[in-house]
Amino acid sequence: MKIALVTGGSRGIGRATAILLAQMGWRVAINYARRTDAALEVVDLIEQQGGSAFALQADIADEAQVMAMFADIDRQPGQLTALVNNAGILFQQATLEQLTAERINRVFATNVTGSFLCCREAVKRMGHHHGGSGGAIVNVSSAAARTGAPGEYVDYAASKGAMDTLTKGLSLEVAAQGIRVNGVRPGFIYTDMHADGGEPQRVDRLAPGIPMQRGGQPEEIARAIAWLLSDEASYITGTYIDAAGGR
Ligand code: NAD
Repeated sequence: MKIALVTGGSRGIGRATAILLAQMGWRVAINYARRTDAALEVVDLIEQQGGSAFALQADIADEAQVMAMFADIDRQPGQLTALVNNAGILFQQATLEQLTAERINRVFATNVTGSFLCCREAVKRMGHHHGGSGGAIVNVSSAAARTGAPGEYVDYAASKGAMDTLTKGLSLEVAAQGIRVNGVRPGFIYTDMHADGGEPQRVDRLAPGIPMQRGGQPEEIARAIAWLLSDEASYITGTYIDAAGGR
């Protein structure tokens, strides 16, 4: 059985992706940071639909916890063939002058370092050089990587830009190992991330400025992620899908 790991899979885009990947036949490893109940709810839902899933607690910014999480996956039946680097954090709007080193470091620790660590451990398991059968990685970046999010969250935007560069560099580094690496850049999507960032109504406020005149649903991002992981995208690596309603 093939296993897909989705980081931050207990809610939002990660949850929608985990459910869709299970419907496509993956046994899904649902990583979560704190909310065991929410992660187990996703596992239950997948199992009710006849799919297969399990939950793994780990702070992806913590190297030891990432190593332990992958060791747990090694003990599962099946082989890791897909990774979705979805876990990410966004803090309240702030101008550049208001940004502290602590905030910048926290954003980069999760969004960038966490994604790097998960890529490293996944490649060790998927890569032909390591005896693996290949696989695919999708990094969930953001439209902010291109806009820069001036006056709002330049720290977050810069971290997503770093993820895009990771996607490009890693895709070239591991192409000969049978691993594809791509990115998805969502626009404004209806998830709890905006409430955590201090503005629950952000998507509705910004919707009129989106060419398609609406925010996106997590399932619309999940479909782009799942397609890139699937054999339908078997000759595609090192690129990005902008799923942002034309923004
Ligand atoms: P969300 O806040 O609902 O989900 C993010 C998940 O990541 C949460 O479950 C959170 O607990 C988890 N997480 C955060 N830090 C973690 C850590 N250190 N270790 C493990 N898990 C951790 O938000 P979402 O909107 O579903 O975001 C998913 C991804 O999509 C993020 O990378 C986000 O930056 C990106 N994104 C979202 C939007 C949007 O408008 N919602 C737009 C562009 C990009």
